[in-house]
Amino acid sequence: MKRIGAHVSATGGVENAPLNAAEINATAFALFTKNQRRWQAKPLTKKNIQGFKENCQKHNYQMRHILPHSSYLINLAHPEKDKLQKSRNAFLSELKRCEQLGLQKLNFHPGSSLGKKSETESLKTVAESINWALAQTEFITAVIENTAGQGNTLGYSFQQLAEIIEQVKNKERVGVCIDTCHMFAAGYDISSRKAFEKTFQKFDEIVGFSYLQGMHLNDIKTELASKKDRHASLGQGNIGWDGFKFIVQDTRFDEIPLILETPQPEIWPQEIEQLKKLSK
Ligand SMILES: [Zn+2]
Ligand SMILES: [Zn+2]
Repeated sequence: MKRIGAHVSATGGVENAPLNAAEINATAFALFTKNQRRWQAKPLTKKNIQGFKENCQKHNYQMRHILPHSSYLINLAHPEKDKLQKSRNAFLSELKRCEQLGLQKLNFHPGSSLGKKSETESLKTVAESINWALAQTEFITAVIENTAGQGNTLGYSFQQLAEIIEQVKNKERVGVCIDTCHMFAAGYDISSRKAFEKTFQKFDEIVGFSYLQGMHLNDIKTELASKKDRHASLGQGNIGWDGFKFIVQDTRFDEIPLILETPQPEIWPQEIEQLKKLSK
């Protein structure tokens, strides 16, 4: 079965996220477990944790269908030692928050070399950051998101994702989340049947479907290989509804969170409904 949802608000406490997801008839969801623009966070309270678990149960959300997203401030490839450590600490604290909530995976952007180190060196730093954090947590999986390749951001190609995974010691606790907008911006077309098959065959060969832990479903305002990250509502960009239809009709995308990060939250209920319809 397809699990379809959106990145919902957790304002007022993480326990509100499953309620917000249920309201739009989502069968999966994403959330921030803290303010994504701040380094610090108040520790989760018993009420947060209990409330989150209860609300997930009440609305039939299994932990594997929830894909929390980490803070945008974190750069696990930072070329400066003290700033890298600050990012690692923040990443670790988010992984621990997720584990407190019983969540199984945390989605994050691999980071940026800031133009100061080679890509190879920077990808190695990302892998070391993951190793460092996984060693201090119990069960959570670190889920690397592909990027559009804007500026010096890493992880825009399947090869780069594979290069990080290769250097992660515990392969059971690493995975990837593929964002369709980022993928298209990086030059991977999925807008026609032929392009879709070719792109995901490449993905399977280079990364492997066994590592796929989630998808971000976003259409895109810019051209193929533009390297620009501009999300559009489904069907209103250069991927078009066909690309999303191919995904929801393909069993390789069963039982993983398929998450909308499209720019008009007011039409999420319709986008979700349409995806569910297409999946049948
Ligand atoms: Zn995304
Ligand atoms: Zn994006």
